[in-house]
Amino acid sequence: MKSADTITNATLDTRRSVAVTGGVASATAIYASRAANAEVWDVEGRRYIDFASGIGVLATGHRHPKVIAAVNAQLECFTHTAFQVMGYQPYIELAERLNAIAPFKSPAQTLLLTTGAEAVENAVKIARMATRRTAVIAFSGAFHGRTSLTLAMTGKMSPYKRGMGAAGRDVYRIPFPMEHRGVSVDESIDALQSLFYADIAPDQVAAIIIEPVQGEGGFQVAPPKLLQHLRQLCDAHGILLIADEIQSGFGRTGRMFAIEHSGVEPDLVTLAKSLAGGFPLAAVMGRAEIMKCASPGSLGGTYGGSPIGCAAALAVLDVIEDERLLERADLIGARIRSRLTDIARRNDVLTIANLRGLGAMIGFDLVNSADGKPDGAAAKEVAARALLDGLIVLTCGTHGETLRILVPLTITDGLLDEGLSILERALIRPSGSVSAIR
Ligand code: PMP
Repeated sequence: MKSADTITNATLDTRRSVAVTGGVASATAIYASRAANAEVWDVEGRRYIDFASGIGVLATGHRHPKVIAAVNAQLECFTHTAFQVMGYQPYIELAERLNAIAPFKSPAQTLLLTTGAEAVENAVKIARMATRRTAVIAFSGAFHGRTSLTLAMTGKMSPYKRGMGAAGRDVYRIPFPMEHRGVSVDESIDALQSLFYADIAPDQVAAIIIEPVQGEGGFQVAPPKLLQHLRQLCDAHGILLIADEIQSGFGRTGRMFAIEHSGVEPDLVTLAKSLAGGFPLAAVMGRAEIMKCASPGSLGGTYGGSPIGCAAALAVLDVIEDERLLERADLIGARIRSRLTDIARRNDVLTIANLRGLGAMIGFDLVNSADGKPDGAAAKEVAARALLDGLIVLTCGTHGETLRILVPLTITDGLLDEGLSILERALIRPSGSVSAIR
């Protein structure tokens, strides 16, 4: 019998339902007590393999020793001055290091912030100041954040936008190409031309923003042909191309930035998540000539570029280099793909379709065996069964039909295989359901 004040998942869940708004939902009803690399333990001492990484934040794993050491060292010096009051070296050093790896041929400059949405908002502000235009074009299925401007750019009504009022001023949308859903690159490009014809002239557009691999939208990879075409259009009309690399960046796809796979150079890049290995930090990197257009005082924020976050990010950059995590991302991705391909061939599993991704950013859909339609309920059940068996894995996609794998790139092969075995068990068709037709 547990005493009344024993902390359990259930007691915390009950307290949460009273104390915390239901507006913030969680994928699980378990509560963390400690974590290390790719494992996390709940308050009841149960251990889970973490295929979610706090939604793609932990490319370098939970509490990487080098990140923790760097943070501890910074804690001994100072924790906050506000860069706008008194600058500090970690901010400048991080900006220098990001500029050195930025995916631009010309010199770069960097702005540091706190959250992903803040980075996206600021990228748009910079684009507006640089072009003296206001319109922004985003894609269907995009996720750029939950603040008012980024919400307007996010391309999913429920649960994000419903009841939040009209979309933000001057935000336009075109379809993201998805060959497996019958939306071709040409159709996306045609939609952009129609937009220019019907709704907004290209010379009024400040920026086109795209996730090189959509995150929440279902791990859809932007075809290089689309990115190349966008680049040409942007060049022709003086529009800036923003790559939102908040989920796809920092090594996840086997390159530092996913857009590098396409050979296309963006003008601005937004970063957050794995940038600081679990500490809240975000960035906008841009071509210096664009970043210089921001008027003094127009950018910033009390906590932007926190010294703790900067110290963590500098250590993350070292770890990515020292542990060759870009190569590791490719190896992890190949291992996941080969295992999932084998699982999909079993005749007792749910119907797996559209295995896709870049590097270690891998997703696949669960579809109805009879008509091939996306099956969000099945994906949700698989994630729930996996959790009961000790694996945290997230869903995403238009109908929640995609299972997405976001393992720490520091995961061992042994733990990765153990996690994939749990996923395999969770994918077995519960008895009673119809057999899969591929
Ligand atoms: N852009 C992308 C591509 C994201 O995946 C996210 C978060 N899922 C955001 C922006 C918003 O980041 P944050 O939640 O830190 O505001």
